[in-house]
Amino acid sequence: MRRLRNLKVVATLGPASDDYDMIRKLFEAGADVFRLNMSHGAHEEIARRHAIIRQIEQDTGRPIAILADLQGPKLRCGVFANGAADLEDGQEFRLDLDPTPGEAHRVQLPHPEIFAALEPGASLLVNDGKIRLKVRECGPDFANCEVVVGGTISNRKGVNVPDVVLPLAALSDKDRRDLAFVLELGIDWIALSFVQRPEDVTEARAIVGDRAAILSKIEKPAAVKCFDEILAVSDGIMVARGDLGVEIPVQNVPPIQKRLVRACRSAAKPVIVATQMLESMIESPMPTRAEVSDVATAIYEGADAVMLSAESAAGQYPIEAVTTMNNVAIEVESDPTYRTIIESSRQASRTTIADGIVAAAREIAETTDIKAICCFTESGTTALKTARERPRVPILALTPYAATARRLCLSWGINCYFNDKVERFKMAVVSAARAARAGGYGDGEDRIIVIAGLPFNIPGSTNILRVAPCEERLIFNVEPE
Ligand code: PGA
Ligand code: MN
Repeated sequence: MRRLRNLKVVATLGPASDDYDMIRKLFEAGADVFRLNMSHGAHEEIARRHAIIRQIEQDTGRPIAILADLQGPKLRCGVFANGAADLEDGQEFRLDLDPTPGEAHRVQLPHPEIFAALEPGASLLVNDGKIRLKVRECGPDFANCEVVVGGTISNRKGVNVPDVVLPLAALSDKDRRDLAFVLELGIDWIALSFVQRPEDVTEARAIVGDRAAILSKIEKPAAVKCFDEILAVSDGIMVARGDLGVEIPVQNVPPIQKRLVRACRSAAKPVIVATQMLESMIESPMPTRAEVSDVATAIYEGADAVMLSAESAAGQYPIEAVTTMNNVAIEVESDPTYRTIIESSRQASRTTIADGIVAAAREIAETTDIKAICCFTESGTTALKTARERPRVPILALTPYAATARRLCLSWGINCYFNDKVERFKMAVVSAARAARAGGYGDGEDRIIVIAGLPFNIPGSTNILRVAPCEERLIFNVEPE
């Protein structure tokens, strides 16, 4: 089950991908990480999908990452007497706290904090920005708006308030319940939605501790503004283009995507480009040319991962969508222009021994025939730094910790292998050679690079690099003991 690409694919699970057979097929087609969306799906559904993924992991012997995506302070309107209402351009529409079902001229917006923060002139966007309202007058429990762009508004549609930094806690009560639940299940990544400031991340970290890595979804203008500070306290980033494209003009999304992807690589933290990548494949077995180009662009930019949302969760062609991403990645990564772009965008901010060692490993692999760079990693940092170099040969991360192996599944080019703890470097070399042989990366006199930190079991001590053959007999011949 060796992947022939460095890009990682994240597939969201949902009604269209709900049983063992389907999820296993998605994994075999190329999904490296599964996203459990806490906005949909009851806890028992989440627990069932979680158990299926762990079963597939056991059956295939390959680590798989599970990403639990918290809904965050997502705002929604109330319900309508008829389930929906049609808003005309120019008409008045009132939002208030009254739970009485709405009609053509009013509906509940059950968020007092928003009314407190609103000001006349602010925009409210409903249903993915399709409906635009402008606040005319407002008070602590209402806002009278003018409909700037009308349309059909229905029960519990999402509401975005782009112009205002909302005085909302990063984690709602629902998020706290969901978080406790998934931490108990055991997941690898937590995604935080609608992060506005670095404190939102540190607040979640205080609860999560080291039980999961934290990914911040960038989908608010406020988060774009203080992105560097958010990145500094996060383990990974998602360019959440869905809500981001509602909250800011859509044409601003591509430049922001480029900037965020670069910053993440330079920080050696994984970044996912998400939303509408293969949107038409919800209903069609073939993507549009523009969608293929969008996936390709994310890869050329150096993203670690691309994501499927409804395509794999609720669409008719989940497997085809994963296969498409897999095939696009294989093509792009074999394009000489891809190498040129990736190499010219490598930033040399090297300050540690580990930085120097991984750079040396990459250079040796470029100079001679090397089949793989194998790194022994406890926390995952050495593997992440190796991935930042974007070497031409596969990266094998060997770790005794399932949690580390799983988290690394999200990062560019890292093939994770569980490995027993090793005490001496020679055993590390033997284990690396075995993993390389078993994975089909090399054999006999083929050479691999092994990097590790001695003494073992002390994180952050990377200090040794060895070029070794794949065959144990040869390893021992070269270095008798
Ligand atoms: P969502 O996040 O799918 O949870 O809304 C992704 C996005 O907004 O792009
Ligand atoms: Mn979103």
